[in-house]
Amino acid sequence: MTTIKASCPGCGDVELTPVQVQLVVCTVKSWSYYGFTCPQCQEGVRKPAGSDIVALLISGGVTAEPWTIPAEALEQHDGPALNYDDVLDFALWLGSAELVAAAAGALRPRRVATAPESAL
Ligand SMILES: [Zn+2]
Repeated sequence: MTTIKASCPGCGDVELTPVQVQLVVCTVKSWSYYGFTCPQCQEGVRKPAGSDIVALLISGGVTAEPWTIPAEALEQHDGPALNYDDVLDFALWLGSAELVAAAAGALRPRRVATAPESAL
């Protein structure tokens, strides 16, 4: 069986089997990591996994777990962040709003729909 050598911050070099290593490969490459529970001190260890480490661990028999970051989590936002008062105002507004979908639709630019002539 393949032995994977890793380093624990407290114990130094340790030897692991592939099933003892968790490899998470993220769509944002710099967020990929591998982790393990140190067999000597039982502490959890997590370290970044660059593409070379990902390839090495996979070749050693470690199963990669995909981690997909939703695109909206990576969006850049301008303006001030929402604060607690904003959330309270919204909650109060929701309590009095009767047509929430209509109000949300009013915020979008309107598109003029045209029906094909055969549908008339
Ligand atoms: Zn350790």
